Amino acid sequence: MEIISKIKTMQETADSLRHENKRIGFVPTMGALHQGHFSLINAAKKENDALVVSIFVNPIQFSPEEDYGSYPIALEKDTEICKQMGVDIIFCPEATEMYSERLLTTVNVSEITSGLCGSFRPCLFQGVTTVVTKLFHAVKPHVAYFGQKDYQQAAVIKRMVMDLNFDVEIRVLPIVREEGTGLALSSRNAYLNPEERAQAGILFETLRKAKLMLDDGERDGVKLSSWMKENIEGSFLALLEYAEVCDTETLKPLLQIETRALLALAVKIGKTRLIDNMIWEQAG
Ligand code: AMP
Repeated sequence: MEIISKIKTMQETADSLRHENKRIGFVPTMGALHQGHFSLINAAKKENDALVVSIFVNPIQFSPEEDYGSYPIALEKDTEICKQMGVDIIFCPEATEMYSERLLTTVNVSEITSGLCGSFRPCLFQGVTTVVTKLFHAVKPHVAYFGQKDYQQAAVIKRMVMDLNFDVEIRVLPIVREEGTGLALSSRNAYLNPEERAQAGILFETLRKAKLMLDDGERDGVKLSSWMKENIEGSFLALLEYAEVCDTETLKPLLQIETRALLALAVKIGKTRLIDNMIWEQAG
């Protein structure tokens, strides 16, 4: 396994892989790897000839009050995991390599970035689309893998790829959850103390119950999102950011639910911000 920290080296390596007709699979991450990442890595390994995993905590997607400075870093352990999983290249540039000068160019996707996480994290999506563009230009993948855990992020990246004609296929894989509690795996779960971790199950529980209400015939989006809000707010330690029932494409709140909906949550448990979502589809 090769570890590359320079953009130029990564580009040259990608060029020679492409020259050898190798299909490059790419999994962008911020490290502190867990089973959620592993599912993307395993799929990418199976479906491609060469597998690149990037580990980069992207400073420009964090607002000043957010957790950039304390984001969990486990480069040694991540390297060992990647080696065992058959990763061919880890791309792990320093922040100064990615953003060497004052950044004058950014990538922005409008409309679908304004709601949900976009309302609470003003730097997030511009930071994500800009870094993913830069990573794609470094790694030159044929296919890139993202998790449904960050549903809005995946939707934004798919839109960027379509609108700007990136020559890369985007694959979005299901959320990997903790057994028993259903808590969506996240590097940020490491911040939770045992009491907070016990409370964090409220996200999955709320989504699961909301989905059952839909199965039972509830079609009023406002009623359903109000119920989700109340259910979260009733939980000790949980501070709600949003609980929404949205269109799966536009990500706008749905008043009337027809055959498909995105149920999306962002909740702070203590200081830890957690997100989760589920897609509901009418059976049959
Ligand atoms: P991160 O390192 O948190 O930026 O995540 C890197 C990629 O892994 C993103 O595409 C995430 O959506 C995905 N991911 C993170 N957690 C999970 C999970 N529990 N299940 C599936 N994918 C995940």
